[in-house]
Amino acid sequence: MANPVRTAAEVLSSTPEGAYRRLVLHAPAAAPRVGPGHFTTVAVGGPLSSALLRRAFWIHRADPAAGTVELLVEELGAGTRELARTRAGEQVDLIAPLGTPFPLPEAPVSTLLVATGHSAAPLPALAEEIRRGGGQVGFVLGAASAEGLLGVEQARALTADVLVVTEDGSAGLTGQVTDPLGEAIKAIDARVVYACGPPPLLAEVSRISLGLGARCWTAVEAAMGCGTGLCAACVLPVVGADGVDRLTRCCTDGPVFDGARVRWSQAGSGPPDPAGPAGAGVAAR
Ligand SMILES: Cc1cc2nc3c(=O)[nH]c(=O)nc-3n(C[C@H](O)[C@H](O)[C@H](O)COP(=O)(O)OP(=O)(O)OC[C@H]3O[C@@H](n4cnc5c(N)ncnc54)[C@H](O)[C@@H]3O)c2cc1C
Repeated sequence: MANPVRTAAEVLSSTPEGAYRRLVLHAPAAAPRVGPGHFTTVAVGGPLSSALLRRAFWIHRADPAAGTVELLVEELGAGTRELARTRAGEQVDLIAPLGTPFPLPEAPVSTLLVATGHSAAPLPALAEEIRRGGGQVGFVLGAASAEGLLGVEQARALTADVLVVTEDGSAGLTGQVTDPLGEAIKAIDARVVYACGPPPLLAEVSRISLGLGARCWTAVEAAMGCGTGLCAACVLPVVGADGVDRLTRCCTDGPVFDGARVRWSQAGSGPPDPAGPAGAGVAAR
């Protein structure tokens, strides 16, 4: 975990962006600590809220000089609706940064960044870091329909290698974001694939990437309770460097994992022996 701070962050601006709301928050203690792939949790419902659980969001961008962090919020339920309606001058209670960021390539290589909908939020900042290190980037971005696409313009400002896929065909190719993935990896000879999203998507991205000999880093959007490792609601079976399977917490041990090490077929259900092999302990790394 990345030394998070809890802060009352002032909303500097709240603007619509397609199906999302872009919130720029003043969080000067948190901003310098953020790397691409870190997330934040935000309290919703006010001080007497019965909504005990904070809501998790990728940090889209952090600007240490300005002391800001940016979130892109999709309204799905009561918590995200409330957050999307906050306006400049109001405060939100956030904890950031949380989790582990994406590891950057050790050498300048070709990389492919893949996500659907709001899960694309951390990818533009990641792409900028990769390019700063001399690497190349390509994108495959998807959504159910055109309105849900996120980050396409930012991706196009960085590279010509941007594939857009929508399930209803309202923009780009028609289908799932994983449909053109194999061809996209081959087209730019990607050696590392970075993906962000729910476990079923990441399982498929890992399968395709690893099958083509690319390394695959996955940022897992698991349903989270506390976001700080206490509740262990977000555990995922992961094979450690010692070859032992363990239930690993997405929020603190991840959310970024080596896709080759995750037991994707058991994600959400856990292995048959939830404590792992005798003596291994739960959620140890
Ligand atoms: C690590 C992480 C990063 C995230 N980053 C972002 C982000 O950058 N932007 C963003 O808009 N959302 C993001 N989410 C999803 C966000 O946390 C949920 O949409 C939010 O918690 C829903 O809260 P709610 O009170 O509005 O809805 P609830 O009442 O809790 O749920 C409303 C509906 O949304 C569904 N839902 C809940 N969580 C998710 C989810 N993770 N993905 C899809 N559907 C969900 C529920 O099943 C339900 O149908 C992220 C989640 C995680 C775990």
